[in-house]
Amino acid sequence: MTKPGDELLFLALGGSGEIGMNVNLYGTQGKWVMVDLGLTFGDPSYPGIDLVLPDLEFIEQRAGDLLGIVLTHGHEDHIGAIPYLAADLGVPLYATPFTAGLIRGKLDEEGLGDKVKLHVVDNEGSFRLGPFGFTYVPLAHSIPEGNALLIETPYGRIFHTGDWKLDDEPLLGTPSTAAELGAIGDEGVLALICDSTNVFNEEASGSEAAVREGLDGVISSARGRVLVTTFASNAARLQTLGEVARDTGRKLCVAGRSLDRIIKVSKAAGYLRDFPETVDVDTAMRLPPREVMIVATGGQGEWRAALSRIAFDSHPIRLSKGDLVVFSSKQIPGNELAIGRIQNALAAKDIAMITDRQAHVHVSGHPGRPELELMYRWIRPEIVVPVHGEIRHMAEQARFAASKGVGRTIVQKNGDVVRLAPDGPVKVGEERVGRLILDGDVILPADGVTMNERRKIANHGLISVTVALDSKGKVRGEPAIGLQGVPVEEDRADFLEEAREAAAEAADGGPRDEAKLREGIRLAVRRCATQWTGKKPVVDVSLIRI
Ligand SMILES: [Zn+2]
Ligand SMILES: [Zn+2]
Repeated sequence: MTKPGDELLFLALGGSGEIGMNVNLYGTQGKWVMVDLGLTFGDPSYPGIDLVLPDLEFIEQRAGDLLGIVLTHGHEDHIGAIPYLAADLGVPLYATPFTAGLIRGKLDEEGLGDKVKLHVVDNEGSFRLGPFGFTYVPLAHSIPEGNALLIETPYGRIFHTGDWKLDDEPLLGTPSTAAELGAIGDEGVLALICDSTNVFNEEASGSEAAVREGLDGVISSARGRVLVTTFASNAARLQTLGEVARDTGRKLCVAGRSLDRIIKVSKAAGYLRDFPETVDVDTAMRLPPREVMIVATGGQGEWRAALSRIAFDSHPIRLSKGDLVVFSSKQIPGNELAIGRIQNALAAKDIAMITDRQAHVHVSGHPGRPELELMYRWIRPEIVVPVHGEIRHMAEQARFAASKGVGRTIVQKNGDVVRLAPDGPVKVGEERVGRLILDGDVILPADGVTMNERRKIANHGLISVTVALDSKGKVRGEPAIGLQGVPVEEDRADFLEEAREAAAEAADGGPRDEAKLREGIRLAVRRCATQWTGKKPVVDVSLIRI
């Protein structure tokens, strides 16, 4: 049982070895604190699953030693698991006002509003949790109130960056200056726990202000309707789009519930104050196309989001020849096929498209190499621990940091217990970590029985066999056979007949032992299906005794 003693431990339960689902623990003197509690999205290897959650078993078993959960910023990969997992941990949450507004909305939606204690901390505010002192340090990112955490511990100070970039003209919020970050470095920092997402980028991420110029250029020359898709949470981009609409003399129409929610939370936290009045969909469709700009969610190919529905004509907004769709976001790896599907549907309607490859219509929210180098120079940590990346990103950041003079680095992954001090960093243990899936309303292990069964059925199909037997073990009547997703169509009747014969033959006078008998029938029917189709369907056998 890992219990932190006179030492400072770091343990990621998510987000190290993957981009998504960030959960980090710091431990000292018998106590733990959690930084972020995010989720990740399902992919085709989890059929039927939208959300994947971290398995918190390690800290659930030690919930009595956990002092609180501190959230860096409001992206789903940092706060998304809160409504599913925080109530069971029973500890308070800490977040700055905008992030807290998003969390509050999630908790209320799940009816957990008064079950989870949420402390709203001022921007740049500080608080203590046992042996830990926390200070929010604002950094630019693609959502308002991106924050690093300066964490005071008995073994030195940690600078946990959260997600960040450098931006001289960020549009929303006031990120810390070089001088402020340098001053943190002057006081001494033991460890920099740092975002690795864009470590392969030779260039800096670039400023939000430059995106406005890029969008102005593209949209001012458009003749028809313009639709811009971006992440709802990117409120700075929404601000940019509001200004672009004004710059280009277009009325703004917002399509997507998550956009409405973000605009509301942003305004409540004091952002988007001068966001233009929006028009509803009906008005937007009645206005001359030249006067309309639509902002819609769904740029990652999400099939239920507005853009997908617009592309496939199941949305009140209709686009046609001469209209323009601007993808003001990057393609998240893994989403290329889904995005391509939408782009093909739009192309088939002769709708023009512009992505960040044709024009400067997007900047990233994560640091490229020049920004990482500056951060090392300002903070001057003794240790760099890369997080927020796949192994290849984290390994590259460790190499990059070493090449820029950082003395000690460690490449860790989810479950590795890393001692940062004394004499760190060193891996001192390994804990079980894993993934959970949200399947309907049920939370299950991602590698459990349900998902295995569903994958098998999805890949091979299902045959159900029912055989009636009398008291002597003789087959009565014909076995009943049902098929789901087995590739027999024109020859279905022939196949069913052969499968019934195979089942009856295996059942008639088969072993008395029920399990053995069912296994015999299962194998016989599966063999028949494999010979017929080359597939190995799941075969489910029921026996009825009469
Ligand atoms: Zn993130
Ligand atoms: Zn983020």
